Amino acid sequence: MPLTYAELQQLLVKQESELQSQLESIQSEVREDGVGYSNHIADAASEVFEQARNVSLLQQLRRSHEDVLHAMGKFDDATYGICESCGALIDIPRLEALPSARYCVTCQTRLEGKR
Ligand SMILES: [Zn+2]
Repeated sequence: MPLTYAELQQLLVKQESELQSQLESIQSEVREDGVGYSNHIADAASEVFEQARNVSLLQQLRRSHEDVLHAMGKFDDATYGICESCGALIDIPRLEALPSARYCVTCQTRLEGKR
């Protein structure tokens, strides 16, 4: 049984709160102004690596969080499930896999090809 839009909206609400708590826990570990300080030179390299990993994870999470919020906003405009590029309805299986999808598969493929 495919999910309904109401169920997809619930999924988004759940994802939003999960992303929010992940963001909070990573933010408490990451100093975005850069490199961690350490008194132990041997630890410094792994700490730098750890910081870099956390910063990129943080950026990824922020992007997903924005996408999820954006998708939730589209329920208010009654534009959820509509491709932002061509206006076609996005396939439900695609939305089930990625509830925050902005584009239909055709447009997503086209946009990715441009990069
Ligand atoms: Zn499209």
